[in-house]
Amino acid sequence: MSDIEEHRKKIEEITLKMIKLLKTRTDIAKHIGDAKASLGMTVTDEEREDALRSHVTKLSKEIDLDQSTALKFLNFLFNESVKVQSDNKQTHLSVFLKAKALEEQGKEIIHLEVGEPDFKPPEEVKTALADVYDKGYGKYGPAKGITELRKALAARKNLESAKVSEENIMICPGARFGVYLAITTLLNPGDEIIVIEPAWPAYKDCALNAGVKVRTIKTTLETEWEPSIEQINNAVNENTKMIVINYPNNPTGKWWNPMVDKIINAAEEHDLYVLSDEIYEEYNRREAEVPPSCWDVQQYEKTIITKSFSKSHAMTGYRIGYVIAEPSIIEKMSKLQALSLTNVSEPIQYAALQALEADVSGNTEIINSRLEVLVKTARDIGLEFIEPDGAMYLFARTKYKDFDATEFSEKMLEHGVAIAPGEGFGDYKEFFRITAIDETKLMEGMTILDTVLKERYE
Ligand code: PMP
Repeated sequence: MSDIEEHRKKIEEITLKMIKLLKTRTDIAKHIGDAKASLGMTVTDEEREDALRSHVTKLSKEIDLDQSTALKFLNFLFNESVKVQSDNKQTHLSVFLKAKALEEQGKEIIHLEVGEPDFKPPEEVKTALADVYDKGYGKYGPAKGITELRKALAARKNLESAKVSEENIMICPGARFGVYLAITTLLNPGDEIIVIEPAWPAYKDCALNAGVKVRTIKTTLETEWEPSIEQINNAVNENTKMIVINYPNNPTGKWWNPMVDKIINAAEEHDLYVLSDEIYEEYNRREAEVPPSCWDVQQYEKTIITKSFSKSHAMTGYRIGYVIAEPSIIEKMSKLQALSLTNVSEPIQYAALQALEADVSGNTEIINSRLEVLVKTARDIGLEFIEPDGAMYLFARTKYKDFDATEFSEKMLEHGVAIAPGEGFGDYKEFFRITAIDETKLMEGMTILDTVLKERYE
């Protein structure tokens, strides 16, 4: 046998051995997953992972294996474990589906779990849709979106000062797809992403789907949902490539704070992408207090901003949003968009263009006044929370020890009210999220919440 043949044989043997070991490892991970589930523990245990990570780093030094390669391989193993330990977490979506099934059986449900405005898109959208056919909007178009819409978005208020042009903008079918594109195209399997929790679940799910390892930073009500720079610095290693921020935040309603500048500075220091999901920017209660935008792509060139017509213009089902970033980043993301969907539907892009003509400040006022009502009622009930600066939610816990929000949300559903359990947003089993819906329904829902809470826990 020639030398090369012999080595090939060896490689084959080693690879098969590794596959067998992977099978053993996966079986054990599944076993641990079942045990964790029965004990009510979370899937990811950052401390255990850190311990294993330092063993691997030490070993790779000893055996002279490239550390980054070793850690990427470890991240692959971590993600495989997360996949087989997939928890049956209750999220706002699973509660919504249960509520829908109950409605089909004729039960009336108050939806405090949903994440969409319950009012209509602007009238301009109706006129635009009627015009679409005659104007001939219905062809294939550029992957980045129609130029008129990209230009119109670049000329919007907060962006003028940031010297954003249409080159910095790509239209996509909702902010969700923007998040997916950013994570999938800018990161590679084995890379790491930092997610500050509580968080909208899709950041983690997109990362897992792309083979990217998630490092979560847990923030608390006690520290007003602000992470510390130590937490960020401790989570960074040579494979860390991105940090996600989302202000105003879903679910906490937390907005701008000096911490955000610090996070961006830390990201710059570590050369990380900053994925800033600004879908709730228009829903704010503190506009006057907010410093000039730092979401300025000129300021930190590795920033990717995702925005949407879903919340600001109540156009969730139209599926249209956009990304703001450096042209080189837009270029990468648009390639995957072209590959996967050619372009966002032209009629919808035209409708969005016309929607920009509408004055939607009324929507902000509606949400703000609902949040006022929600905050007051939640205080009267004795819930614990920080007052939301923006978005459309309240993230709260009760004063009761051993309160389990997942169990509570099941109970609430039996009483005709759907709420979003905190575990859908991270390790927050004692919290739940309430959406600021129409005031009459909201008050009705909160009264039931108060009654169920007292019946169950007092
Ligand atoms: N980001 C956050 C924080 C969200 O809450 C949501 C939707 N609930 C999205 C993005 C997705 O929005 P879109 O409809 O634009 O995809």
